[in-house]
Amino acid sequence: MQINIPRGTQDILPGTVEKWQYIENRIKDLCDRFQYNEIRTPIFEHTELFLRSVGDTTDIVTKEMYTFEDRGERSLTLRPEGTASVVRSFVENKMFGLPSQPVKLFYLGQMFRYERPQAGRFRQFVQFGVEAIGSKDPAIDAEVMALAYSVYESLGLSKLKLVVNSLGDKESRLAHREALMGHFSPSIGEFCKDCQSRLEKNPMRILDCKKDHDHPLMKSAPSILEYLNEDSKQYFEKVQAYLTALNIPYEVDSNLVRGLDYYNHTAFEIMSEAEGFGAITTLCGGGRYNGLTEELGGPEAPGIGFAMSLERLLAALQAEGIELPIEKKIDCYLVALGEEAKDYTVGLLNELRKAGFSAERDYLDRKVKGQFKAADRLQAKFVAILGEDELKENKINVKSQETGEQKQVNLDHLAAALKDFQSY
Ligand code: ATP
Ligand code: MG
Repeated sequence: MQINIPRGTQDILPGTVEKWQYIENRIKDLCDRFQYNEIRTPIFEHTELFLRSVGDTTDIVTKEMYTFEDRGERSLTLRPEGTASVVRSFVENKMFGLPSQPVKLFYLGQMFRYERPQAGRFRQFVQFGVEAIGSKDPAIDAEVMALAYSVYESLGLSKLKLVVNSLGDKESRLAHREALMGHFSPSIGEFCKDCQSRLEKNPMRILDCKKDHDHPLMKSAPSILEYLNEDSKQYFEKVQAYLTALNIPYEVDSNLVRGLDYYNHTAFEIMSEAEGFGAITTLCGGGRYNGLTEELGGPEAPGIGFAMSLERLLAALQAEGIELPIEKKIDCYLVALGEEAKDYTVGLLNELRKAGFSAERDYLDRKVKGQFKAADRLQAKFVAILGEDELKENKINVKSQETGEQKQVNLDHLAAALKDFQSY
């Protein structure tokens, strides 16, 4: 019986995995330039962590978590996002006490959400995200957005749109909350069940509803920007001034609200405006979450971060027709003629590999022509050909597949000869 892959997951095969590696390397390089250090947290956490941090009115918590009981009857959940784990770890490892502040971290790993699979929506997907914890300087908000933006830009994407909003501080949000409740409650019966429960718990999340998106009351809803107090207003203005200083184009959208209940002040998304990208255009989402460290038992440490999935990044590259410059050539393929020469290449191959070359030989008893074809398939830069006569004379023929140049070298010095050959 054949068993297939679970819905909403995918195998990333050789030939495609190189694209992933290329992007992962670019991400790591950019994180180094921006000075974000990698953190690796477990794939599963106590369910409680996500209930507390992501919030119980979010889609993630209400319907998307992979939650299970382990044999010790603990409720565990496959992580649906990264912020909760990173902040948990920040508190648990007392990173607030580190001399170097703010603490700037990045993660790159699988996330799990029980979603309806479609283009850009998987049940297992890979997120790259960062968290900068311990500063409420609006310049760090701008830096975080610049890092997200530069991942896309540096890979060649140009049809990008950065949308920012401010959710204000607690006071501003409370005032806005009152206004939203007044706006929606008379007609809340026309909204979905989720929105009805959001009205009391977190009415701002109604604005993020995917079902009632087109209800006329959505457009006329009171804007958070009108409820920002002086501090929040100034903060938002600073963030925008810094974005301008960074030369990053952006738009303000007062209806942008993000998933987590703990978001405040800056919220942002980066979308793809490439034609034919499909219905889901958001590539990246992020925001500020002052208060989350306290909720998870730590001291006050304001944070900001974002997350983007590599699946949507790859989809955006495809929509813009961008081919990543992936070269997959091997250094040397050993072609052998006759039994003795074949035997000899076993040790010779190993020597090349020890010397740092990527090298391969035949394992299917192919004729010479077949071996040359195999060398072509692997895009070998050099082919080294060992015949019975050469073996007797302790020599080997080396041919550059790029220039056609050919040389006979001492068999004991093949690795050195390849190095020489490569250097001009
Ligand atoms: P959406 O509105 O598309 O459901 P979200 O608000 O649930 O997004 P976040 O939790 O903010 O998304 O996750 C950040 C990013 O992770 C998204 O912008 C997207 O790039 C990616 N992402 C989220 N869910 C998925 C998924 N199921 N498959 C692939 N990528 C995803
Ligand atoms: Mg979602």
